[in-house]
Amino acid sequence: MATFLKPDKIVKVKIGNNELTINQKIIPDNLVATKNVASYVQKGDKMKPCAKLNDGTGKPKAITVHNTDDIKVASGTNAAEQYTRATYNGNMNGVVVHFYVWHNDIWQNLDESERGWHAADGSTRRKDHRGGQTGGNLDTIAIECISADSESEETVAKLVAYLCKKYGLDPKYDVYTHNYWMYGKDETVVGSRKNCPIYILPHWKKFLEKVSNYYASCSTADTKKTIYKVQCGAFAIKSNASNLKSKLVKEGFDDAYVVSINGLYKVQVGAFAVKDNAVKLQNELKAKGYNTLIVQQ
Ligand SMILES: [Zn+2]
Repeated sequence: MATFLKPDKIVKVKIGNNELTINQKIIPDNLVATKNVASYVQKGDKMKPCAKLNDGTGKPKAITVHNTDDIKVASGTNAAEQYTRATYNGNMNGVVVHFYVWHNDIWQNLDESERGWHAADGSTRRKDHRGGQTGGNLDTIAIECISADSESEETVAKLVAYLCKKYGLDPKYDVYTHNYWMYGKDETVVGSRKNCPIYILPHWKKFLEKVSNYYASCSTADTKKTIYKVQCGAFAIKSNASNLKSKLVKEGFDDAYVVSINGLYKVQVGAFAVKDNAVKLQNELKAKGYNTLIVQQ
């Protein structure tokens, strides 16, 4: 029986009220092919480009959406894990992407700052939606949406929105089909040639609208790693925490909430990516007589 991969790290991200769980299994720089995997990955070659996006800056210029087919998997795993495993084992014909998405399962194989092999445009660039020059492989983050499944597509829309927010990209201009890098067009299904993302292409505009809606619900704070909160109390007894929370809400601190951490019920207010904003709130609370401290998450 196959040994399933274990993620190196599990990362939770927020998109408005939605949360995504990302299983990170980043291909190490020193992983080499044990056989000829593709014309550009021969036995002994590195399994990924080992280069940064956007001329070495590592800042993604855009996002590329792909579809790939569903696969049968053993019980206890899912297609996103299995595609990741196939990538590690050199069974993906040299394709290396940043994310595989199947239903709610997301596996990340490349750091968001590095180049993959997915767009079939080698190391070329073409005119992009903003009138600049962009290359699918050279400059974009790749997401593979597995199968014609609506849940997978929904998860991909959330993930794209999150990445747009995180990197200052605009869902209207900076999200591309794989087709674009091959043919210079997003929307059209072109004859009998390979079309990707095959299942999303027929309703590509609707998909982008979905991304835009998730993007609108996503705050910049959602994408920052460190979140600062103001803590007003920590209690062993839950009702004490609830009472303090109610008092805070009454006094206008509407977003006061109770979290349970290490057996204590903590009353916190606000969630800020920028520490100064937490300090401002802390000063307001102090002025009203609360004993506060700033906590990081
Ligand atoms: Zn594709």
